[in-house]
Amino acid sequence: MPAIIDQVVAITGASSGIGEATARLLAARGAAVVLGARRTDRLDRLAADLRAAGGRAVTRATDVTRREDLERLVDLATSEYGRLDVLVGNAGIARTGPVADLDVAGWTQMIDVNLVGVLHGIAAALPVFRRQGHGHLVTTVSTSGLKIVPTQAVYAATKNAVRTLLEGLRQESTDGVLRTTAVSPGYVRTELADWIDNAEVREQVRQDMERLAIAPEAVARAIAFAIEQPEDVEIGEIVIRPTVQG
Ligand code: NDP
Repeated sequence: MPAIIDQVVAITGASSGIGEATARLLAARGAAVVLGARRTDRLDRLAADLRAAGGRAVTRATDVTRREDLERLVDLATSEYGRLDVLVGNAGIARTGPVADLDVAGWTQMIDVNLVGVLHGIAAALPVFRRQGHGHLVTTVSTSGLKIVPTQAVYAATKNAVRTLLEGLRQESTDGVLRTTAVSPGYVRTELADWIDNAEVREQVRQDMERLAIAPEAVARAIAFAIEQPEDVEIGEIVIRPTVQG
C-alpha cells in the first residue's frame, strides 16, 4: 500500500495527458488537487470523477499565458485547502517543425505557454511558498531538450530554458524553503501531437508515439516520487523515457 500524500498540489495542463494522469494518481493517494487548464468541461468531469472516488479536487479555468489566471489558481488552493505545497507547471504545447518553416506565431506561442507560463506560476506561487516556509515547484520539461533532434529545436529551446530557470532558482533558494524538480519525459502517449501544424511532422510524431510511447501514468508516478520525499530531500531532475527510445 503506497504512503498517503497529504499535500495540496496545483497542476496546470490538468485537462489531458500527463497533467490528468498526475491529478488522478495524486488524488487517489490522498492529495488535494487544484486543477487548471483552458478546457473547463474536461476539468470539471475529471474533478467530479475524483470526488466520486473519495478524492479532494477543485478546478479553475487557467490560461497560463495570463498571469492573473495563475494568481487565481494559487488563491483557490489557499482558500479551499489553506495552503499550496506543490505547483506542477505542466501545461505545454509542441508546435514543432523545421526552423526553416519560419512559424513565428508557433514559436511565440510555445515560448508564451512553455516558458512564460512557468514564470507566471513562479510569480504566483513563490510568495505563498515563502510565507508558508515551504513549497515545491515541479515542471514538465522534455528529453527533447537533452537530445536535440530535427524539427524540435524551438520546442527543445523552451524546455531547456525552463530547465535553466529551475537551476537558477534552485541556486537562489538554499534557505530550505523551495524544492524544484524538472521532470523530462520522452515519448508519452497523449494529445500533444495535435498541436503540430506541419502535417508531415505531425504524422511522424504520431507514428513515433504509436510505436514508442509510454503511458502518462508512468510520468505521474515519477512526479509522485519527487513530491513524496521528506522535506530535506530534493529530487532535482528525473528523466523518464520509453526503454526503446534512442
Ligand atoms: P496534452 O496535449 O495531452 O496536454 C497538454 C496540456 O496543456 C493540456 O491539459 C492543455 O489543456 C494544457 N495547455 C495547453 N496550452 C495551455 C495554456 N495556454 N494554458 C493552460 N493550459 C494549457 O500533452 P502532454 O500531457 O503530453 O503534455 C504535458 C506536458 O508534458 C507539456 O509541457 C509537454 O511539453 C510535456 N511533454 C510531453 C511529452 C510527450 O511525449 N507527450 C514528452 C515530453 C514533455 P487545455 O488545452 O485544456 O488548456
